[in-house]
Amino acid sequence: MNIQKNHVVTLHYKLTEDTAEGEFIEETYGDDPLEFIFGVGMMLPSFEEHLEDKLAGDSFAFTLEPEDAYGLYEDQAVVEIPIGSFADETGNIDRSKLIPGSPLEMNDHEGRVYHGVVQEAKIEAIVVDFNHPMSGRTLHFKGEILAVRDATPSELDHGHVHHGGHDHH
Ligand SMILES: [Zn+2]
Repeated sequence: MNIQKNHVVTLHYKLTEDTAEGEFIEETYGDDPLEFIFGVGMMLPSFEEHLEDKLAGDSFAFTLEPEDAYGLYEDQAVVEIPIGSFADETGNIDRSKLIPGSPLEMNDHEGRVYHGVVQEAKIEAIVVDFNHPMSGRTLHFKGEILAVRDATPSELDHGHVHHGGHDHH
């Protein structure tokens, strides 16, 4: 079966920066393979483009420029947030959660959630980088297709892959 829209794809991949010999980013080898429904917006469109029509047993290797992956690194996405914004209801500020490298979740007035990482902790403000961790990086994927099958109606309905005993309330 070829990889097409609404098929469940199982694959292993290794992700490195720029080329197969580049800096290691992550891999599924030695762990559970990646499983996803093809063509329904679960994965980057540019990622899927390189896998369309492949069969179980096929291997792949391709490179995505930042523009086709997680975007360019934007300096404007690094912002200083006044320290007062981190106070809890009692006015307490837990600085142990605001050390460089700590992940942060911030809400705007409309309730949208933004994920960032603390870049610098100043006395009066915290510098937070809201760029996607993969932004600005050229991604090289190398791997192999393990299985391709039709998604079941309930998988398409739920928008995720079900494993044997997966049960829903
Ligand atoms: Zn489900």
